[in-house]
Amino acid sequence: MSTVYIATSNQGKLRDFQTAAAAYNVQIAPVPNIESLPPVVEDQDTFEGNARKKAECYSRAVVGELVLGDDSGLCVEALDGAPGVISARYAAVPGTSNSSDTANNAKLLAELADVPDERRTAHFICVIAVAKDGRTIELFRGHAHGRILHAARGSGGFGYDPLFLFPDLGLTFAELRPEQRIEFGHRGRAFRRFLEWYQKQHKIL
Ligand code: IMP
Repeated sequence: MSTVYIATSNQGKLRDFQTAAAAYNVQIAPVPNIESLPPVVEDQDTFEGNARKKAECYSRAVVGELVLGDDSGLCVEALDGAPGVISARYAAVPGTSNSSDTANNAKLLAELADVPDERRTAHFICVIAVAKDGRTIELFRGHAHGRILHAARGSGGFGYDPLFLFPDLGLTFAELRPEQRIEFGHRGRAFRRFLEWYQKQHKIL
């Protein structure tokens, strides 16, 4: 079974990626010793930019191997795409580090306080970059479309999940089972696009 490295030390993300990859006979492993490498600052103004930056930087640490970098976030149409690339630090003072999920969700609800249901549409987006020896080879995108509720629902997941209603199932992302998150979520969708590409390509890379 071939191995692809991923630039994350987040165990939850790693598990999601590994579960999805098993069906494609691909093994996903974290970049070796990622905790001891200098962290990559996610300071680009697009999801693509941040995903590329992570994949390219960490691919220099695993010579000759494919390395994945991902970036994701929530875009709310009525807020002109906010929180967008700053989803993890939406409620933080600019220039400081990430804010808590609770603070981010409270800010989102406050910003949408006067926005009626029909204008509370939003989507999660995930961009995955695949790089080798410091160069991005390909980008993959996945979306999940939904609507922002007026109050949190559900206890699973993380981030904005309890506020994000997935209308196709009538459930928030915090109410989905893990396998449903992979099937319907933006990360699973982007990652399956990568896996399909990889199955076609890896013999000639
Ligand atoms: P990351 O940089 O890709 O880890 O994600 C940035 C931020 O986007 C997270 O801290 C969350 O606030 C938000 N986010 C990304 N993906 C999800 C998701 O699947 N559910 C809920 N929030 C998410």
